[in-house]
Amino acid sequence: MSILEIKLPIHETFQSTVQGEGYWTGSLVDFIRLSGCPVACPWCDTGYADGGANLPREQRSIGELLAELKSPRVVISGGEPFIHKHLPELVQALLAAGKQVNIETSGSFWQEISPDVWITLSPKEHINPKYPVISQFWSRANEVKIVIETGGEIDFYQEYLATNYKQYVYLQPEWNNSHQAISVILQILQQKPHYKLSLQIHKYIGVQ
Ligand code: SF4
Repeated sequence: MSILEIKLPIHETFQSTVQGEGYWTGSLVDFIRLSGCPVACPWCDTGYADGGANLPREQRSIGELLAELKSPRVVISGGEPFIHKHLPELVQALLAAGKQVNIETSGSFWQEISPDVWITLSPKEHINPKYPVISQFWSRANEVKIVIETGGEIDFYQEYLATNYKQYVYLQPEWNNSHQAISVILQILQQKPHYKLSLQIHKYIGVQ
């Protein structure tokens, strides 16, 4: 079977939008959202809080996914991309097509991925301890994005942030309680001015 014939379960795809979060905020991107995630965060904005049994899961080939791309950078998100055994082939095909590739992950599942891929680690171990972050992700990730509800998240990950990760750390308010969370983040930034606030700008400007 050719790599272009390999199929993956797709939640949705969309093109020519902007990345709304983290380091690449404002950049033109396409999204490939892979289906499924077992972590079950209660505020999951992709719909996997209850396991997502009724969410879209259309099998589509890598060739079909490549054919619809429009932007130079492609964000693979989910669900949880790293649960899919064919993620490395999808990444390989995107890089071979000249695309820049980002992957957003909770860090709970590991596969070897090209070092050319930008990894956004958004840990959820504090929400569901059954899915701890695989240790390699703390050094492999290009950025860490922590969803803030109470501020206790920073204490939870402080050991890892202090010892394994020294580059980009983004604090993102939990959307359903954003007013209070932004206030908490502003207080954290006074203590840790090398961290940054990340707003989900796609939600403010009304794009996917
Ligand atoms: S890890 Fe991400 S995709 Fe999975 S349930 Fe949590 S927010 Fe949703």
